[in-house]
Amino acid sequence: MKIKILYTHERVKHPVLSTVILKTGVPLNILEASISPSRGELVVDVPASGDQLKAVIEALKAEGVEVRELGPTIEVDEEKCVLCGACVSPCPTGAITLTMERLEIDEQLCIRCKACVIACPFKALSMASTSWEA
Ligand code: SF4
Ligand code: SF4
Repeated sequence: MKIKILYTHERVKHPVLSTVILKTGVPLNILEASISPSRGELVVDVPASGDQLKAVIEALKAEGVEVRELGPTIEVDEEKCVLCGACVSPCPTGAITLTMERLEIDEQLCIRCKACVIACPFKALSMASTSWEA
């Protein structure tokens, strides 16, 4: 699962991720990072589910950061998609599969780079908005 972590300026200098990794044993993987002296935002892949995922979320919150669960990464507008395949080769992780009927995106492989969104000549792909959950 991918999550977004938001730091306030009080927490930005704290080793939040390493503390949570040591506490939970789950190797969090940073996919995107935007840090300034006043705030920070990270998109992180959490290779866990069930109780282990819950433990990671709770450990992050205990470190004083805000956690948002991210929904599907890329949305496909099937009305606009003509199955041309132009988005497939720009994808650096092989997350996109094109069949005769539809385009599929593997959420586990997607790193939110937007290369496919930029490559699509029909503007059929967009970055999905986030949902507040965890
Ligand atoms: S956002 Fe990047 S990694 Fe994800 S499907 Fe598009 S090109 Fe592939
Ligand atoms: S580039 Fe756009 S139109 Fe072509 S297969 Fe990908 S999403 Fe569909």
